Amino acid sequence: MATVEFLQASCTYPEGRRKAVDNLTLSVADGEFLVLLGPSGCGKTTALRMLAGLEDIQTGQVLVDGQDLEGTPPGERDLAMVFQSYALFPHMSVARNLGFRMELAGAPASAVSRRVRRVASELNLSDRLDRLPKTLSGGEQQRVAIGRAMVREPRVFLMDEPLGALDAKLRTTARAKIAEMQRKSGITTLYVTHDQVEAMAMGDRIAIMNRGVLQQVDTPRRLYDHPVNEFVAGFVGSPAMNLVPGMYKHGWALIGEAGVYEVPVEVAYPLTSPSVLVGFRPEHATFAAPGNGLYTTVSLVERLGHTAYAHCEISVGRGRRTVIVRCEENAAPRVGAQVGVVPDPREIHVFDGETGLRVG
Ligand code: ATP
Repeated sequence: MATVEFLQASCTYPEGRRKAVDNLTLSVADGEFLVLLGPSGCGKTTALRMLAGLEDIQTGQVLVDGQDLEGTPPGERDLAMVFQSYALFPHMSVARNLGFRMELAGAPASAVSRRVRRVASELNLSDRLDRLPKTLSGGEQQRVAIGRAMVREPRVFLMDEPLGALDAKLRTTARAKIAEMQRKSGITTLYVTHDQVEAMAMGDRIAIMNRGVLQQVDTPRRLYDHPVNEFVAGFVGSPAMNLVPGMYKHGWALIGEAGVYEVPVEVAYPLTSPSVLVGFRPEHATFAAPGNGLYTTVSLVERLGHTAYAHCEISVGRGRRTVIVRCEENAAPRVGAQVGVVPDPREIHVFDGETGLRVG
């Protein structure tokens, strides 16, 4: 078991134009399940590879249990990495895939066999031990890849989109299995994904990155309730938070155009300009007769069984913007209807229109 720290660590690829990871400072507690989340190309994989010793760090440090890993070759860092591609040996049985690293390290055959059988049983692979990887389903191959990391009992697990190759249903069961395995073993884990639902379901905490820069690291709940900037607000939550441009004036934000609507807001920090973005989640708004709230026209209703999402168009300046409101399926407005959308004043987020930073 171990702590992990990145201290102002940066990495630029020789042929890269900007830093793939820019001044990353992040601490992972002993036994924690930390998810690195962000859009494609934001630097998640690079951060893992820096820790694994697979990429050069130009500035800063990475530490495991307080020890700077600079100069320690990847094979001696005692970290186990699981990739999306699984990287199983195709000509070896499941049992040999699982035990290979221990064999290589010179462990006695009886110890290897004992450990392999224990891990196989934890991952429901006991009756697959003699099979070759190509005769297994995607989900089983994925479990072998995880099992191979578990057999080693490393200080830290590094997982890079390990569920990426699975279909939606298998992903859900596999993510529960990984979370359970991690809790049981208590091994500190860094887990990379671009899927925010997966991140919210699995992580003790989530570190959100964008363009190489860490944006926020927090519990799933706190990220959802208190995003620190416009990027995090728009990235966490599905459908995303509605963000409507407005102007701030003496405790009120004016949003929408046709029938300008005033929302009471509290601004805790000085604004760089009066322009703001007002955010509210689809579940934090209700419908009212036109003339109340934001004046909108319903353009689409997505019906998902019990609930529905109504897409409502508002005028903003010369353009239009869509806000999404969640409602019960049988209370959904019809397409083309003109309705007022009233955000819950207790659930309003305010971001600086210039910097995107949360101000209230
Ligand atoms: P994804 O979710 O698509 O895997 P990611 O968040 O893991 O993305 P990285 O793979 O860490 O992102 O890439 C970060 C940045 O570094 C991207 O801009 C990418 O194009 C660039 N990059 C990655 N690998 C290399 C490389 N070998 N050479 C040059 N640039 C690279």
